[in-house]
Amino acid sequence: MELTFLGATGTVTGSKYLLKTDTKHILVDCGLFQGLKQLRLKNWSKLPINPAKIDAVVLTHAHIDHSGYLPLLVKNGFSGKVYCSEGTADLCKIMLPDSAHLQEEEAEYANRRGFSKHHPALPLYTKEDAENALALLTPVSFEQDVDLGGGLTLRLSPSGHILGSAFVRIHSQKTSILFSGDIGRTNDILMKPPVRIKQADYLLIESTYGNRLHQNDDPKAKLATIINRTVKRKGVVVIPVFAVGRAQELLYYIHLLKTSGAIAEDIPVYLNSPMAVDATEIFNLYHGEHRLNAEQCRALFRTAHMVNSIEQSKALNELKGPMIILSASGMASGGRVVHHLKAFAPKSNNTILFVGFQAAGTRGAAMLDGAESIKIHGEYIPVRASVELISNLSAHADYAEILDWLSGFEAPPKKTFIVHGEPVAADSMRRHIQEKLHWQVEVPEYLETVRLD
Ligand SMILES: [Zn+2]
Repeated sequence: MELTFLGATGTVTGSKYLLKTDTKHILVDCGLFQGLKQLRLKNWSKLPINPAKIDAVVLTHAHIDHSGYLPLLVKNGFSGKVYCSEGTADLCKIMLPDSAHLQEEEAEYANRRGFSKHHPALPLYTKEDAENALALLTPVSFEQDVDLGGGLTLRLSPSGHILGSAFVRIHSQKTSILFSGDIGRTNDILMKPPVRIKQADYLLIESTYGNRLHQNDDPKAKLATIINRTVKRKGVVVIPVFAVGRAQELLYYIHLLKTSGAIAEDIPVYLNSPMAVDATEIFNLYHGEHRLNAEQCRALFRTAHMVNSIEQSKALNELKGPMIILSASGMASGGRVVHHLKAFAPKSNNTILFVGFQAAGTRGAAMLDGAESIKIHGEYIPVRASVELISNLSAHADYAEILDWLSGFEAPPKKTFIVHGEPVAADSMRRHIQEKLHWQVEVPEYLETVRLD
């Protein structure tokens, strides 16, 4: 076997790994690059492999940095099966058309305002491309062997990151490889912990938090403090969230805070992301994967006013605080939350609260860095609101949690590849594994190819 790293090297986005045998080409994950401009431009340059020659795709989970390139792959000639868990398939059905919609909207906006260098600006892909990709989804159950042909077998195991997220194991008679995808937390309030894996000859491990530990303090208490402080100022708490995963977790925390009296019961909460609303409904269908029962799911859903139409979304910007708005995207790189930032970031009584990893180059990273203004739709918007972060709400394991998960292996893999981390984080994860476990570890480079014997 041969493995080529086509993304998520030196960055947390663009996950794509090509596994090649004499007869089969399997692409594991098919993600979009996000964040820094030079990364985003990679989405537009020709893929170094011919999509028509790929036999199958396997997805670890539905987040766009792992699935969002699929419509383009299909547009450019891929026509095989896309294996994924049932939860991932259901989530992709809302996420890929939404991603296409954002691409189309961005192109349309650029054309209307004339700030693109390209005339006309075209979307990376369209809703029709996304629909064509969805037709190839082939959901498979967890912990079932799936024959990929050419002597290769696939098995998915729950990784506890979001609904449907999986460790992807592919093995032949001679060797096996495990792709971690994104690894969840041991004690997540919503998701069950990642399954322990005992064996793999080769391992790809994510390193988003390879150089960081999540604080041990209770995120609920910090959330209450931030909300109460802002409410006192009659301000608005804007929370950029990933529509899938963090939105549901935040709603559940807010529900707990309201019922315990830690925050006032009558503070209006809005979930302004049709995709998050849909994802919350899908959450109800997969009780096996998360910790909430049907009643808790209903309570979570009732916590917020669900905002669907554009008119309702715009009307929120005219409302006075106190109120809480949850809106996507989680790194404020696009979506409806950007319009809320335009409306609420300039006022000092408001709070912008980040609850997940902010990749380099995103507005989220800039604001956490103390940027006095951010650029939105070609316009500089002053940031006078408080900017806060609760990192403990992240859906990614930190390095200690990853080391603990790795300790479940009965024998060291022949080689472990560190991916899905910014350079400092990936290198730090490498050192932690070498020092603690004495494994053979490597941080691969973009387009590097390695042989797996
Ligand atoms: Zn993810």
